[in-house]
Amino acid sequence: TQVPVRRALISVSDKTGLLDLARALLAHGAEILSTGGSARALRDAGLPVTEVSDHTGFPEILDGRVKTLVPQIHGGILGRRDLPAHLAQMDEHGIAPIDLVAVNLYPFEATVASGAGPEDCIENIDIGGPALIRAAAKNHGHVAVLTDPSQYGAVIDALAAGGTTLAARRDLAGAAYARTASYDSAIASWFAGQRGDALPERLTIAGIRRESLRYGENPHQQAAFYADGSTRPGVATARQVQGKALSYNNLNDTDAAFEAVAEFDAPAVVIVKHANPCGVATADSLSAAWDLALRCDPVSAFGGIVALNRTLDADAASRIATIFTEVIVAPDATDEAQAILARKKNLRLLLTGAMPDPAQGGVVVRSVAGGFLAQTRDDGRILPDALRVVTRRAPTEAEMADLVFAFRVGKHVKSNAIVYARGQATVGIGAGQMSRVDSARIAALKGADAARAAGLDQPLTTGSVVASDAFFPFADGLEAAIAAGATAVIQPGGSIRDDEVIAAADRAGIAMVFTGMRHFRH
Ligand code: 5GP
Repeated sequence: TQVPVRRALISVSDKTGLLDLARALLAHGAEILSTGGSARALRDAGLPVTEVSDHTGFPEILDGRVKTLVPQIHGGILGRRDLPAHLAQMDEHGIAPIDLVAVNLYPFEATVASGAGPEDCIENIDIGGPALIRAAAKNHGHVAVLTDPSQYGAVIDALAAGGTTLAARRDLAGAAYARTASYDSAIASWFAGQRGDALPERLTIAGIRRESLRYGENPHQQAAFYADGSTRPGVATARQVQGKALSYNNLNDTDAAFEAVAEFDAPAVVIVKHANPCGVATADSLSAAWDLALRCDPVSAFGGIVALNRTLDADAASRIATIFTEVIVAPDATDEAQAILARKKNLRLLLTGAMPDPAQGGVVVRSVAGGFLAQTRDDGRILPDALRVVTRRAPTEAEMADLVFAFRVGKHVKSNAIVYARGQATVGIGAGQMSRVDSARIAALKGADAARAAGLDQPLTTGSVVASDAFFPFADGLEAAIAAGATAVIQPGGSIRDDEVIAAADRAGIAMVFTGMRHFRH
């Protein structure tokens, strides 16, 4: 099943690794056919190459829209070497077999991500490339198909060993169809986006496996990490600077932490455990924000994921390094900070290069039996101006700033979410309870624990504000918050018992604002 390569077709937009691949092919006696730009790159490096147009006797036309869409090329790829009738027809029409196809596509996804206009995007829809890839993948019994420079190394090794094996060609074929599927799905999404339709009739989830993970959420589950070609700064596009391989749970938690920290403009720190924040703060510096975030729940923070929205500096790095942390994710880190963290061999440091835009749209999916649910990303962000004061007392300026902060944190806490905050720092988070009043009680309990841990005699929730991700259905949840010492409340409003809840707030003399926006997160 080993196939030596006598003739290869190379047509690549991304020229990474091109020369190494070409040199290896030539060294093993292959002839190289290539299209305009790729042929030029090879010639410039002094390598012998035959232009596809010379090979076929037909020029590239229509600004490159038709380069390789000719029978000499597709016949050469698709002809079965094991069928005498195919060989005879190829012979009759002067079609030479092609044993290896290396194609990567016009950068459609990157063109869209760069904000290019429709004409540019459409011109970057590759037509001949996917046809070549699909043809070569179909005939993987005889042809090897390379769709990404990361695959070149293994094929170069195979050439040295006498040719590509069937098993390797089959794997490459699978990867090839995954690539064309994700390419077409990106194009379909773009068309849907052009009509303002985020959720089209047919939704394809496609991705390229970035890595196999040791296991899934639990050791008996298999898992892998797929990248969908999106350029949103985050776990899929980050560079891992140090530390062991990330686990499934690490990736999930890191994503939650980084998306949460992106909500804030001031230097911010989010500590996440089990996909929920256990401490969030903003301050004048990252190290001050870290101290405040850690104070909220130092017990849970152990073994947590830390996300920052600024370049990690040495001061913050050395403070974070004092407790056991699984992952740190930030847009960047200074050399000094990296040197400090390098001493912690197992700690993973991920650098994303930039922060994601919390207001950016997009579609998120989750699977259910028999299908999946899709919705647009929760890009809701409340602004102080849009809030409605419903109590006799209006929040003070400081309370208002903390209310907005607490509600933004609440967006990233699993429902039912209750978040106490004071001075732009969380002081008690209640997550994922089946009743809102339990979340309020647990959050207050955590505030009391944290105060004890810090040697304070008053719970941290004393004089705090409180956010609820959805309306209080009864006054009891609000009363639990008042008992914990909250002086102001932010919640969506909209319960049929809003009047009772407002009356309870007025009785206690606290301020309450309605957002009109809910942030369930399940
Ligand atoms: P080059 O830089 O070699 O001129 O062009 C390489 C690109 O052309 C590759 O991305 C490849 O997928 C694409 N390509 C190859 N053949 C065709 C074709 O017939 N039509 C179109 N539209 N693109 C092609």
